[in-house]
Parts: sequence; structure tokens; C-alpha cells
Amino acid sequence: MSHPAPSRDADDAVLDDAVASLQRIEAVMAALEAERFRQLARAHAVAVGRSEHRPQTVQERELALRSVAAEIALALRWHDRTAQRRITEAGALVEDYPATVAALDEARITGRHADVIREMGAPLLEPASREEYERRVLARAERDTVAGTRAFARAVADELEPRSITERHTDAAERRRVWVDDDIDGMAQLGVIDSATKIRAMFDRLTRQARAVRRVADAGGGDPDITDTRSIDQTRADLLCDLVLGGRPVVDPTHAHLAGGLGAIRAEVSVIIPVLTAVGASERGSMLDGCSPVDADTARQLLAEAPGWQRLLTDPVTGVALGVDRYRPTPEMRRFLRIRDVHCRFPGCRQPARRCEIDHNLDHAKGGRTTLCNLACLCKRHHVLKTETPWTAAQQSDGSIVWTSPLGRRTTDPPERQVAFAPDPDPHPDPGPPPF
Ligand SMILES: [Zn+2]
Repeated sequence: MSHPAPSRDADDAVLDDAVASLQRIEAVMAALEAERFRQLARAHAVAVGRSEHRPQTVQERELALRSVAAEIALALRWHDRTAQRRITEAGALVEDYPATVAALDEARITGRHADVIREMGAPLLEPASREEYERRVLARAERDTVAGTRAFARAVADELEPRSITERHTDAAERRRVWVDDDIDGMAQLGVIDSATKIRAMFDRLTRQARAVRRVADAGGGDPDITDTRSIDQTRADLLCDLVLGGRPVVDPTHAHLAGGLGAIRAEVSVIIPVLTAVGASERGSMLDGCSPVDADTARQLLAEAPGWQRLLTDPVTGVALGVDRYRPTPEMRRFLRIRDVHCRFPGCRQPARRCEIDHNLDHAKGGRTTLCNLACLCKRHHVLKTETPWTAAQQSDGSIVWTSPLGRRTTDPPERQVAFAPDPDPHPDPGPPPF
């Protein structure tokens, strides 16, 4: 085989130019990233400075940081937790690893290398060992990939770390937690972090149980009706759901205090189902906790099995007489607010309304009334931010909330439900008998 020489030369020239251009772009971006770290660190220094002005509690120091983070988040359309994490990380990078920031500025490393150096060096608290760590890892980062640098950095940090693995594990175990992330197509992911032995044991038990299910299914006993075609992965997932939703904790300190103990506590989720979907006239999706779409079949199954449902008319919403002027909202008001707000009303926050507190947008102490047009759902974090820092919220007649930051930046948060459910343009003409 022979290649036509002229086009090969032309290809080479194009590729060469593309590579050189990419190098120039990366160099500019690295310098910009260094500048972004420095500006985030300046904001971090402002938060730290404010909290050092007067003697304060840990919570007050944290609030100074949160207020600064929310200011940046609003300006850049970041989540305020993201902003808080980034300014804290930038503060640590700029303060603890000056040579790394300089190397980034000169494009000898990338921003992700800098992140790895800060992240892997976090256990090193002694300035001397941190300096040695930075010197050795930086030399490696300038000629290696991010992944290669990470492995090397971990080894160096381990070598310089004065604490034993037992001490470190005790600290690390403080981070154990469970969280949930939304996925696409009506799915979600459950995450859990705990000690490696427990997590491995959990996975092993699920695997053994799933294999036993498979063995029985494969043997089948010659019964053609026994057809379990689930994979091991699918079976493990089903077993985990069964255990969490149906099982009881082994250690239960509440059994003498709660009727039925911890095992009697069942999962609770809220699902909003358009009525035309409920009766099968539409396949329009429903919303789980106001953030995850649920497919129509799942929603109808939940509807059929639920012990009771709250029926609500979403439009118009104003015909309800609830203007009671007292501090505590009535149960009807709380229910209405949860349905209207769906989630916390701080811009960008998705904390479900049923885990939120009811906020008086204009404080009750300042004459704010306990009426629907002055009440909104805020999660604990954002309720505290609004109450304890100069952030203000003003509700408009349509339920949208105008937030004003301490620097005077404004943003409007519209109520969710008006956005989530537009009228169905073409419902099925004959829905048949309703399921309830
Ligand atoms: Zn919130």
C-alpha cells in the first residue's frame, strides 16, 4: 500500500498546527485557572477576615463563609455549596502550595494537577513536610498525567504522614454518609461511604444472595413457569432495595420507645401525578420530590398502592382562604407551601420541600404576616443563611421570590409548579374507567 504523498504532507501540517494551537490554548487556560484560584482565594480571605473581626461561634464563622459563597454562586450560576467548596479549596491551594500556583501560572502543570497536589497533600499538616511533598510531587506533575501524578502524590504523602493508619482511619470514618444523585430516564443513584470492610461485606452478602437466587432459577425444577432472567447485577440491586425498604436494623435502641421500633419506619416520598396520567388518558410524566421525573406506569402503580392521596387543583391556586395572621402556619398552609414550592426556594437548591422549614420572607418580628404570600419553604442551610446574614427575600404576588445579596445583586426564583406542568395539549378523548 502506498499513500499519496502530497495529502499526507498537508495532513501533517494541519495536525501540527492543531497541536501547536492546543498548546497555546492550554497555556492561556492554565494561566487563567491560576488567576481564578487567586481570586477565589481572595474571596476566601474576605470570609476569614470577617469572621476574625470579633469573637464568634463556629456557626458564625461558617456563616460568614456561606454568605460570601452564595454571593459568588449567584454571580456565576454555581450551586452555593459548590462555590463554598471551591473558595475553601482555592484558599488552601494558594496559602499552602504557592509553588504549585506559580507552576500553573507558567503552564508547567494543568489546573487538575494542582487539584491533585492539594487534595493528596491534605493530611500533611506540618509546613516542613508539606514543602517537601510539594517539591517532589510538582517535579513529577510537570512530566506526568493527572492519574500518574495522583498515584505518586499518594505514595509521597503516605511516606511523609506522621500519623498511623489507625489514627487516619478513625478520622476518615467521620466522613461516613449516604447520599442520592438523580440520574436520567426516571432513575437515581444511591451512594454510600463507610469503612472498606463493611462495604466489602455488604457487597459480598448481596453477591452470595444473588448467586443463590440464580442457582435456584437455573435449576428451575423443570417448571416452565419459573423464569427468572435477571442478571447478577440486577438481582443485587433488587435485593438491596428489599433489604433497605423491608428489613429491620439489627441494633435498635428505639424499640422500647417507638411503636414497632425502627423497623416500623417506612420510606416516604412525594409524587405529583397529573390527573390525566392517573386515569391513563396521558403518558405525561410525574415528578418525584419535585426533582426526578417518574414514568407514567410507575406513578400509576404508586397511586394504586398508596393508602391515601391529597387531591389538589393546581390552577388557579388562589381560591383558598388561608390568610390567618398568626406566627405558626396552619397544617393546610404547610401542605399548600410544600406543593407550591416543591423544593427549597433559594436559587439553585433542590432540597425537597418536605425536608424544609417554613420561612417568613419578611420576618415576623419586622411585621411580616403569616400569609401564603409571605411564606416559603427553605432548607435548614438557606433558612439560617437568610436569618443570620444580610441576604433578603421578597415574595411577589405570583409567588416568585426576589433574592438580594449583601452586595445588592438580585435574582428571581419563580415557583416551580407553574413551570413543571403545562396543560396537556391533546388528552386522549376517551380515558375509560378511572382506576380509583
Ligand atoms: Zn436550600
